[in-house]
This record gives sequence, structure tokens and C-alpha cells, in this order.
Amino acid sequence: MESILNVDDYAPGRYARTRVLQQAGFVVHEAATGKEALEQASIHCPSLVLLDVNLPDIDGFEVCRLMRLDPRMFSSAILHISASNIQTHHQVAGLEGGADSYLVEPIEPAVLIATVKAFFRARQAEEALRRSNEELERFGYRVAHDLTEPLRTIVTHTQLLERKLGEHQDEAVTASMRFVADAANRMKSFVEGLLGFSRVTHESSQVGSVDFEAMLQLAEADLASAIQSSGAQITHDALPQVSAGTGFEQVFQNLISNSIKYRREGVRPEVHISARPDGDSWIFSVRDNGIGIEPRYQNDIFQPFRRLHGRDIPGSGIGLATCKRIVEAHGGAIWVESQPGTGATFFFKVPVVSTPVMAHRAS
Ligand code: ADP
Repeated sequence: MESILNVDDYAPGRYARTRVLQQAGFVVHEAATGKEALEQASIHCPSLVLLDVNLPDIDGFEVCRLMRLDPRMFSSAILHISASNIQTHHQVAGLEGGADSYLVEPIEPAVLIATVKAFFRARQAEEALRRSNEELERFGYRVAHDLTEPLRTIVTHTQLLERKLGEHQDEAVTASMRFVADAANRMKSFVEGLLGFSRVTHESSQVGSVDFEAMLQLAEADLASAIQSSGAQITHDALPQVSAGTGFEQVFQNLISNSIKYRREGVRPEVHISARPDGDSWIFSVRDNGIGIEPRYQNDIFQPFRRLHGRDIPGSGIGLATCKRIVEAHGGAIWVESQPGTGATFFFKVPVVSTPVMAHRAS
């Protein structure tokens, strides 16, 4: 059931607004302070919040910011309402702080109802899109998942056939067997990549205390054989331990693996990992001395299956798209800076998660 949270410390104004909304058929919850508003929001998860800016304890802008930290409130509409903070800079601060609209009192009841209805319409359209997107995601996951088993059978039996035919086969048969085996292996890595890509949203993203130094070590351990065979030198600055989303080990692994894969011929791969704080986030970088990427492709490479290389360098073209998904699932961003021939530096931004809304709920 969609509901509205009406937040205002001025009781007569709050009652009047609640009555107008209830008469129009909406379910309304009320709060008179910022603290109460956060409590009500965590209990009811309202679809729309009418949020007074001037509150006695926490100001409305901060309440809005804290509400947005609760993943369940990402798609709720938050509309500030104010009679006194009505200058341009107030409105800009409110909207840039995460609100969807800034209403100035006095508001005609008919306008309030029409505005609320317009937001609900937009929300329904967004919901329908989200659902159809989820269905597509599930479909992609199922297809990739169901292809794994028959593919494994093809790969195993091709190897078995190759061994059984042994020296008896003629050249044409050997060549055909090689084509089948290569194609099956390429398809296997493609399907595995696709499965990893769909898993990012399929398995809900977790939040916890993340030790990035330990994560990097895990990624390096997984890449041990590639590091050893290429003679790659991996160095890093001190990396933080912060409260953030999980799954970044995969990001390190994909980026370092690429740094090794896309090395310059005859040049020993050197990869350096650093981190620096940036407001409420950390920006990590993975710098290499490889072949680099031309500026015109620097956005494209984050699209699924976009590759700049042929089969001479193996890959499914899904690694960077998976990194992008992981980073964006946690509200971050990923990008690259590079000059062809001198190497590439991949950056990813990780927002530090504070959980006051959840802490609030627990208390
Ligand atoms: P894959 O490596 O499997 O092809 P990715 O999604 O990891 O797929 O990368 C997409 C493309 O971006 C690669 O095919 C390659 O052309 C380019 N690329 C990725 N990382 C680097 C790098 N460190 N240096 C140069 N090119 C890179």
C-alpha cells in the first residue's frame, strides 16, 4: 500500500495537510521532528514524503540526506515544503541534497493533491520499468546458468574425443577438433563472464567493514599464476579499511588481470594501486604501463562485450562491464585515463557508508 509521510513541527498546518490528503484517499503517517520522521520512514517506507525544512531537532535537508541512505527509500519521492526558507539558495540546496521537489507555502490543497498524484504516476512508471528490467535480468541469468551444463559436457567430451582419436586422425580431423575445442572454450568463458555479470545484481549487494588491503591480497592470490608467468610487479600504497559495499575484490582482480593481459610486448608489466579520500568517498586507482587505450574508446570499454582486441588476446569483453556494475551497485563510479602506448589508469570511487537510519531503527 503506497503511503505518504507528512513531516511538519507546526501541528495545525500538519493536521490540515493530513486531512486534505486523507480526503483525497491517501494513507498518511505523521511526524513532528526529524527524529520521528526517520523512525516513521524506517517503519512505513513511504512512497512520498512531504518534508518541512525547519524542524526543531535535525533540519529537513539533513533528514532528506539520511533517508536517502536507506536503500528502501531510494525511489521514494521527497518533497520539501517551506514557508520561510524560500530563497533560491534554499531551493537549490534542497534539490541538490536529494529532494525531488521544493514546494513553497502557502500551497492550494488542489495543487498539493495534483502534485502528489503526478509523483505517484511517475513512480508507477518507474516501478513498471524496474520490474521489466528485473525480469530481463532474471532471464539473462537463467540462460547463462542453463547453458553452463551442456557446455561443460561439450568441452569435456571434445577433450575426450581428441585423446581417443590420438595419432590415428588425419590432419583435417585434427584441425576440426581444434576448432570445436577452441569455440567451446571461448563460449564457456563467455557464459561464465555473463553469469558473473548477472550475479552482481542477482545476489543483493552487501555492506560491511571492508579491508581493501586484504581484498587486494585475495585478488593477487587468485591471479598468482598470471602474475608469475608474466613477471608482473604489483605494488600498492596503504589502502583503507572502511564501511562500504562488498564485492570490490572482483574489481581489483579484473583490473589487475587486464593490466597484465594488455601489456606492451617486451615490457615487464608494472601495476600500482593507490587510494585517496574524496569527501564521503575513497577513490582507488590501478595504474599500469601497458598498451593504453585511445581516448575515443575510453567510455565504450565499460559496455558488455565491447573489446578492442581480436582473439590474439583472450577475453570475453565482460570484465569491465562487471566492474562498472559492482561499483555502481554501491553508488560509485568507474573511469579510465590513458594515453595509448604509455599505459592506463583505472579509477573507481567507493562511497563510505554510514548507517544512521539503520542504527536508528535498531535503537
Ligand atoms: P576482456 O579483457 O575480456 O576483453 P574487459 O571488459 O575486461 O574485457 O575489457 C574490455 C576491453 O578494454 C578489452 O578488450 C581491452 O581492449 C580494453 N582494456 C581493458 N583494460 C585495459 C588495459 N589495462 N589496457 C589496455 N586496454 C584495456
